[in-house]
This record gives sequence, C-alpha cells and structure tokens, in this order.
Amino acid sequence: MTQQYQIPVPAELPERIQHYIDGEFVDSADGDTFDVLNPVTNEAYIKAAAGKKADIDRAVEAAQRAFDEGSWSSALPRERSRVLHKIADIVEERGARLAELETFDTGLPITQARSQGRRAAENFRFFADLIVAQADDTFKVPGRQINYVNRKPIGVAGLITPWNTPFMLESWKLAPAIATGNSVVLKPAEFTPLSAGLWAGIFEEAGLPKGVFNLVNGIGEEAGDALVKHPEVPLISFTGESKTGQLIFGNAAPWLKGLSMELGGKSPAIVFADADLEAAINATIFGVFSLNGERCTAGSRILVERSIYDEFVERYAAQAKRVKVGFPHEPETEVGALVHPEHFEKVHSYVELGKTEGRLVAGGGRPEGFEQGNFIAPTVFADVPPEARIFQEEIFGPVVAITPFDTEEEALELANNTKYGLAAYVWTNDLKRSHNFAQAVEAGMVWLNSNNVRDLRTPFGGVKASGLGHEGGYRSIDFYTDQQAVHINL
Ligand code: NAD
Repeated sequence: MTQQYQIPVPAELPERIQHYIDGEFVDSADGDTFDVLNPVTNEAYIKAAAGKKADIDRAVEAAQRAFDEGSWSSALPRERSRVLHKIADIVEERGARLAELETFDTGLPITQARSQGRRAAENFRFFADLIVAQADDTFKVPGRQINYVNRKPIGVAGLITPWNTPFMLESWKLAPAIATGNSVVLKPAEFTPLSAGLWAGIFEEAGLPKGVFNLVNGIGEEAGDALVKHPEVPLISFTGESKTGQLIFGNAAPWLKGLSMELGGKSPAIVFADADLEAAINATIFGVFSLNGERCTAGSRILVERSIYDEFVERYAAQAKRVKVGFPHEPETEVGALVHPEHFEKVHSYVELGKTEGRLVAGGGRPEGFEQGNFIAPTVFADVPPEARIFQEEIFGPVVAITPFDTEEEALELANNTKYGLAAYVWTNDLKRSHNFAQAVEAGMVWLNSNNVRDLRTPFGGVKASGLGHEGGYRSIDFYTDQQAVHINL
C-alpha cells in the first residue's frame, strides 16, 4: 500500500530501543530485535531488542545484587522519598518530550498525551509521601507481650505492563515497588516500547542506585513469560488482558508468587431518567472516546432508562459524530490512531459484527479521508441486546453499545451481566438510589454522577474477570512488602 501520510517524527529518537540492565543500555544476548510500527503509517520506524530468558536472567541477577547490596532496600524511607520526589520533578519537566514520544508511538491524541507526565509524576509524589507517613501496627497485651509488624521489601518485583498510556501505567507500578525498597524488572508492552527508555535517564539523574531499575523489552510470550517463570522473582504485578492474566496465574502457580492483576473491562454507564442529561451525555462520550477508547475503565456499555432512551440515543449519536478524528499530533484531534494494525483489525471486526447485533447510529468504520492507518470513527450501536458479543466482550476502541432498561432491577441485572467487573458509572439525582446501586453493582470502582477521576488513596482494581487484588494507597504498600509479625514477651 502506498503511504501518503507525512507526520512529524520526534527529534533525537534513539537508533534502536535497547534493554537497560544494571545501569547500562544493552542489546539482547542473542542480538534479536523486533519491529515497532508507527500507528499512523503502520511502517516500522525503529527496532527494539527482543528479550529472552537470558536477558531476563541477567536483569534479575542485577536487580537481586542491588537488593542484597542494600543501599536502596535498607535506605530510610525519608532517603527514598527524596529520590522519588526528584524522579517526579524530572518526569514533570520532561512532560512535553514524553507527550511527543507517546503520541508518536501509541497514536494517542497529543492533547491527551500531555497529561500523562503529570499523572506519572503524581504517582511518584504520592508514594514518596506515603512511605514517610507509614505507620505499622503494634499491639499490646498488658503485662505479657508487645507484638508489632515489621514491614520488609520483598526482593525483585516483576512488572508487566500494557500498551495503553504505557508510561503512566508503568509509573503506577514502578513508584510503589521502588518506594518500598524493592528492585524491579519492567517488561513493557511490545507495541509501544519507546517511552519506557526515558525511565533510565530519569532514575539515574534522580540518584536511584544502579541495578534497582531494570528494563527488558520483548514479546510477552518470551520476555514476559521468562519473567513470570523466574524463580527469583517472588512478585508479579501485571496489567493487561484477562486471558493473559489467566495464563500468568497458571504459570506463576508452581512458585506461589504474589500476584496483582489489573485486567480487562466492559464497564457499564447507567443513566436514569432523572439524571442531568447534558452532564451524562458529555461524560459518557468522554468515557468511551477519550484515549481512543483504549482505556481499561471505558464506559463501553451505556444503559439508559426507556423514558429518555430515544432522546438520549439521538443526542448521543449526534455528539459522537462531532468527535474529531485526526492525526495524533494535531491539537484539535480527539480520537487518534489505534495502536497497531492487529488491534485495528480486532476493533474493526467488532464494528462489522455490531452491524448485525445492534442498530448503527454513528460511525461504523473508517472515517472519511482516512483510507490508511488505524483510524476508526467513533461508533455507536443502539438497541444492543445483552447476549450480543458487542455487549459482552471488551473491544478496547471507540465503540459503544447502548441498551434500554425499564426498572432499576433490570438496570442492575444488565450492568452485572458480563464476566467483567472493573468500573461502573451511575447517573441519577436520586441520592438513595445512587448509593444502593453503587453497592449492588459488581465493579471494583464506581463513579456517581462523575467522570472517571482518580483519588490515589482509593483502591484501584476490578472484581470477577477484571482483576485480582487491588492496588492504590496503602494497598500497594501491602502488595510490595512482606509483613512480619514480631512477638515480644514482657
Ligand atoms: P496483553 O495482555 O496482550 O499484554 C499486556 C502485557 O503482558 C504486555 O507487556 C505483554 O507483552 C505481556 N504478555 C503477553 N503475554 C504474556 C505471557 N504469556 N506472559 C507474560 N507476559 C505476557 O494486554 P494489552 O493488549 O497490552 O493491553 C490491553 C489490555 O489491558 C486490555 O484488556 C485492558 O483492559 C487491560 N488494561 C487493564 C487495566 C486495569 O487497570 N484494569 C489498565 C490498562 C489496561
């Protein structure tokens, strides 16, 4: 296919993407590489080192050495906190560069990529503060015993991350893992390895000791698999698809590893007739079309009370048609290019399937003028029955299914009628109903009359097929540390 798109290439791209092990950028032991594609042209723009078991072994060895040496694992929380704050400052300073790389590599609209540095920096600041404020439990049995909790870093944490908002999601694991004194081996997603390389320079400049952070690029089934199966990695924090999570769960079982899994979703937004319709429409448009719809917590099923259903569908479709698809680097773009041609094919096949399962009211394929690249027009299907695959399965693109309901009971039944349970959004002005609904809905996170905004102190994670364990606030500290009980006789 002839490519006609001319898009700006960020200045000073590396010659190739390497691993970063024990403070050095290195190639794979066997020299193997894989191609990384630009999501607009689908041309390979760089090669990345394809890590295998030998590279993982080397990275784990370096991480273990740094851990045993103790300058980080035994440092006082205040000392670690200072380094984490420096990391946050540097991340924020480099926000513009990060946004440029992220947009180029992932297809995310530049205006949305610009917030990623700030969010990543906040993750470091938050854990920098939390570790100095950390209190551990002490229990007294008067006259007999004092029992206290001794919290210890675990060792080498394996961090495996997905391609959506890659840098920010890496920070979500790196910050608590490092803050608590562990060493890490990060395996970023193979579709989007570009921005992960920034961590090396940031950590060096902030003064993180060599070997505490290690990065191995590569394919999930090779590098990721070797990390999961490494006997000296007692902890795996994974974000990705539910089916990959299931596989990792099985592969980690022989070592009984600590696992934290943030997985897929098919989150409902429930709109009752008494809701502020304008606010609900704006938020549900944002909820599924921002970040190209490549968002784990996307509100990809909208359930609407029948008395406002026709009006909602009409207004929603009209607004979806106004969402601007464009080249990721252009400031007016609201939906850019999907990350990779394989993912484009997946989303596109769901769009085609949707035409047989629901009533197409907006989008439905490539937007006009975008004959190449991974572009999909914001697509809305109405009247989608719950047994439809587009109601049940995660599409992870700018595609939404709308379904009517008659009663609150039916709304709840529809909301819970998938294998997933990550997020839910409820729109109603009935206070009692909103709280009761929030408590009954099977979702790890619920937003009431609210956009998806994070409070870093709250748990983040899903129920059912959407995850295992919750991180966020003290829960992350719990995951990345062992809590030893010490009993003293008086
Ligand atoms: P994915 O499961 O294909 O890959 C995620 C990571 O796992 C990648 O680094 C990949 O290389 C690695 N991997 C793949 N197979 C592996 C194996 N056998 N062993 C070890 N590692 C392996 O997911 P993706 O397509 O990159 O990301 C999209 C998915 O992530 C969606 O389902 C989305 O909902 C989910 N996600 C969830 C959250 C959340 O917090 N719940 C956040 C973001 C994304």
